[in-house]
Amino acid sequence: MNRLNFRVDARATGSRARAARFRTLHNEVLTPLFMPVGTQATVKAQLPQTLEDSGSQILLANTYHLLLRPGPEVFRRTGGIHGFMSWPKSVLTDSGGFQIFSLPHSRSMTEAGAVFQSYIDGRTILLSPELSIETQLAIGSDIMMALDQCVASTSDEATAREALEVTRRWAARSLTARGDSPQALFGIVQGALFKSLRRESAQGLCEMDFDGMAIGGLAVGETKTEREEMCEYTAELLPPDKPRYLMGVGTPLDILEAVHRGVDMFDCIIPTQVAQRGGVFTSRGFLQMRRGVYKFSEEKLDPACDCPTCTRYSRAYLHHLTKTKETLGWQLLGKHNIHFYHQLMREIRESIMEDRFMELYFDKRSFLQEDDLDNPVLDPGPKPVKRPARGDYEIHTAREGFASILHVPSGEIMHSRTPPMDEARRLYIEQSFLAERLQAGSNADPLVIWDVGLGAAANAMAAIRCYEKLADGTVRPLRIISFENDLDSLQLAFEYNERFPYLRHSGPSGILKKGHWQSREHAGLSWTLVRGNFQESMAGAPAAPEVIFYDMFSGKTNGDQWTLDAFRRLRMACADRPAELFTYTVSTASRAALLVAGFHVAKGRSTGDKVETTIAFTPEAAASPFAQRHELLGSEWLGKWQRSAARIPSWLPTAEQPAFEQGVLGHPQFSP
Ligand SMILES: [Zn+2]
Repeated sequence: MNRLNFRVDARATGSRARAARFRTLHNEVLTPLFMPVGTQATVKAQLPQTLEDSGSQILLANTYHLLLRPGPEVFRRTGGIHGFMSWPKSVLTDSGGFQIFSLPHSRSMTEAGAVFQSYIDGRTILLSPELSIETQLAIGSDIMMALDQCVASTSDEATAREALEVTRRWAARSLTARGDSPQALFGIVQGALFKSLRRESAQGLCEMDFDGMAIGGLAVGETKTEREEMCEYTAELLPPDKPRYLMGVGTPLDILEAVHRGVDMFDCIIPTQVAQRGGVFTSRGFLQMRRGVYKFSEEKLDPACDCPTCTRYSRAYLHHLTKTKETLGWQLLGKHNIHFYHQLMREIRESIMEDRFMELYFDKRSFLQEDDLDNPVLDPGPKPVKRPARGDYEIHTAREGFASILHVPSGEIMHSRTPPMDEARRLYIEQSFLAERLQAGSNADPLVIWDVGLGAAANAMAAIRCYEKLADGTVRPLRIISFENDLDSLQLAFEYNERFPYLRHSGPSGILKKGHWQSREHAGLSWTLVRGNFQESMAGAPAAPEVIFYDMFSGKTNGDQWTLDAFRRLRMACADRPAELFTYTVSTASRAALLVAGFHVAKGRSTGDKVETTIAFTPEAAASPFAQRHELLGSEWLGKWQRSAARIPSWLPTAEQPAFEQGVLGHPQFSP
C-alpha cells in the first residue's frame, strides 16, 4: 500500500537539498517543512486557527503524554485527535521512545518494551512497540513513529549497537501491529555517532516497508559539527523516494544546514519555548525582548515579517508584556516565531524550485547566527579584544578553530568550512593534477598558473608547496601569476601568520614587498603579482595560462567577474592553447556562461559545503590526458538548466538572450 505518494519536485544544484510533496489522510504536504510541537494536543499558547493561517501543515503530538492523559480511550470515543483539538490538517505522533529515554531513573528496558512509572498515578506501564502503535492508532495520527530505543549520542559502541538491534526488532513488531491501517508509519535510524552503526541501522530499516524514515538520536549531546556530519552521512543512506525526518532539530540555522544535507521534515519546541522566555528570531538576528533597548521602540518586531504580531504590535509593547511575564507576550512572540520558521521553509522550498538554493543558503546563514544586528549585545565581561582587521577584511575563526579571512561588506568568508590549505589542495592542486603535470618531463615549457583572486594566497602557496615537494626530481618550471586588486587580505593574514602558518615562507613577503618572488632553492619556481581589476589586467599578463584557479568572490559581491563577457575575455586570453579552469562555484548562470564563452564544462569534486564544484577547459585541451579525466556536464545538467528559472542570467541584455540560449543548447559537448 502506498500511503503517502511521496514525490520529489526539484533538487538543488551544489547541495543535497530537495523539494517534495506527499499526501496524508488530511492534506497535501509540501517539503521541506517544519512541524510545530503540540505535546499535549496543543501547541503551547497557540490557537489551531493561527497555526493554520501561518502555514502549519503537520503538528506533532506526543504518544507518551497522551497515553497517560487523557488516555487512548478518550480518542477512541471522540473519533481521534483531529476533532478533539479542532485541527483539520495532519498530525504526526512520536512513539514515546524519546520521552522514555529522558526518564533515566524511573524506567527499565527489556526486549518486550520500556517499563516506567506513570508520573500521574504511579501505575507501572509496559510501553511495548504494540502498545505504542495501538495508542497511535487510537489517536488517529496521519504519521506514526515506530518505538525506538534512543541512547545518548555520546554512547559507546557496544551500548549504541545493542540499542539499534533492539530498535530493529521493535521496528518489525511495529509494522506488524500497524497491519493494514491507512495511517503511515516511519522507522527511526539510530547508531549514535558511529558511521558503521548508522549504516547498519539504515540498511536494516530500508528493507522494511516503512512510509518514511527518521534520523533519531541526534540533538542529544553531540556538537553541532558532529550532528551535521552524522546527519549528512545518514540522510544519504536513506531511500530517495521516501520522506526524511530529522527528529527534534532545531534552530532556524540548524534546519537550514540539515535541508542542505538532504532532510525534508523537522520538528522542534524551540519557537514556542524561546518565546516564553522573550526570545524571537527575526530577519535582523535573534532578539531578546527583555532587553531595555526595546523599551521605547515603536518599530515592528521584525521589519520583514507580515505575521499578525508584527502587523499589529510594537517592540515597546512586546517588551512590556515580556517584562511583566504576561501570557499574551508568550502567545504573540510564539506566533511570530512559528511564522518565521514557516516563512523560512517556504523561502527554502521556493529557492530549490528555482534552483538558487545555494545563494539563499549563504544569504540566510550570515544572519541566522547573529544577535540583534541593529542593537548589538555588548559583552559585559572583560573588555572585548578588537578583532584583527584591515581595510574590508577581518580574521574569522571557524568553529573548528582554524582561521580564514572574512570580507566584511559582503559577509563572504574565504574557506569557511575547511582550513584554507586543505581546500586549496583539494579543489585546485589535486583536481588540476598539478604534480603529474609538473612531472611531465618531456615538456620543458614552464607551467603557467593563473591564480585569479590571490586572497590570502592559500591557492598559490599550495601550488608552491606542491612544487617544492617534487623539486628533487625532473620537473617543469612553474610560474605562478596571481591577480588581485586589494592586497589587504594577504597583508592581514601575513601580520597574523601564527594563525596562517602556510604564510611562513619567503614567497608571501616577496609578493607583498616587491610584487615578485623567485625561489632561491629552485631556479624554476617563480611567482608574480598582477595588480588591478582582473578584467582589465588579464590582457597584459606576462604569459598565457595552462591552469587557472578562478577563486574570486561570488557573483553577488563581484558580479562583473562572472559574466559572459568576462569568460569570453578569459577564453581569448588563453590564446587558442590548452587551458583548464577550476572554480568553487556551481552556479547555473556561471556554468552556462562558461559554455557560451566556448569552454567545455565538467563537474568538479565536493568541498566544504558544496557537493560539487566546476571545471572548465578550452576545446584545445579536450584531448589532453588531464581534461579527459573530468566528467563533462551531460544531458542531466542540460535538462535541469532548461527547467531552471536561472536559465538565462539576469545580467544578460534581452537582445542577447536567444543567442545565449542557443549557445548552451548547441554546445558541442551536448551533441550525441
Ligand atoms: Zn512576525
